Amino acid sequence: MHDGVDATALPDGITPLGDEIYAIDTMMAGYPGITSSYLIRSERPCVVEVGTAGSAEVLRDGIAALGIGPDDLATIVVTHIHLDHAGGMGAVAGMFPNAEVVVHERGARHLASPERLMRSARMVWGDRLDVLFGEMSPTDAARIRAVGATGSVDLGGGRSLTTHYAPGHAKHHVGLVDSANGDLYVGDALGVYNAYTGDVRPATPPPDFDLDAALTSLRLFDDIAPRRLMFSHFGAVDTVEETIVRAREELHAWVDAVREAHADAPDLDHAVAMVRDRVLGRYRPLPEGAPAETAQVMDVLSGVEGNVAGITHWLDRVAAEQAEKQRNPGDTGGPTA
Ligand SMILES: [Zn+2]
Repeated sequence: MHDGVDATALPDGITPLGDEIYAIDTMMAGYPGITSSYLIRSERPCVVEVGTAGSAEVLRDGIAALGIGPDDLATIVVTHIHLDHAGGMGAVAGMFPNAEVVVHERGARHLASPERLMRSARMVWGDRLDVLFGEMSPTDAARIRAVGATGSVDLGGGRSLTTHYAPGHAKHHVGLVDSANGDLYVGDALGVYNAYTGDVRPATPPPDFDLDAALTSLRLFDDIAPRRLMFSHFGAVDTVEETIVRAREELHAWVDAVREAHADAPDLDHAVAMVRDRVLGRYRPLPEGAPAETAQVMDVLSGVEGNVAGITHWLDRVAAEQAEKQRNPGDTGGPTA
């Protein structure tokens, strides 16, 4: 099915990574180096991440260039349902009619009925939504398979991807481990990796960000001891241990700065200024020749305002829970939302 694809003749934006894995740059908002999908060209070919609705055709063309036809794709899996990862799902599922769609159970209904997700995204992004993401169209619910704490994607030939629930960035987030080589698809659980500088910056957006959950997910990734970290933003990284250590340090640095600012004054602007002042110096400047527009869009995805808003939201939630406990010391809480 896919013999005869010449790796030296691959189009721009497709990077062979060994073991029949190909990174496909899905050119978010027209820019390279922001969103990456991965095609695993095994017996049962699988795509990890679809990117935005605006990226659907780029992804389809990339998959076609790798010799996989519309009827050949067996699985489409997303690490979570944010629009830069899953916004193109309805469109891409339509292009590959035989593919099963795999997603965490807390995200499944939003892929089938994206109206609510789109409404809240529109509130956050306003007019920029169309430029950055486009509109997610619904995926036929019968094609969606939801996974829980763990799950499995059959890649054929005895190879599989194991899904592990990994919340913190979002409560519908999973990591995926390839049985053939130990690669770990990390989604946004570690944050955003900048290949130009080697820096990793946290991605802590509202409303789901939860530091404790994020740290638990990082410990899980330590235990998995992956061979490589496959970032959705952006690329494969083989300095695994130091990158996980760095991600943990960065989370603490951001949360500590916001916590201190929040204790001084509750307004977001104060926290944003404090993070700019105290945290951004941790990151190396972009080298000359690196595309400035890409950096700008990346900044939108994991920018200071969004990260600070997410951390503040979490601090407020924790404070409210503690106050509630003090009022009802005998109440063990029971199931919360
Ligand atoms: Zn993302």
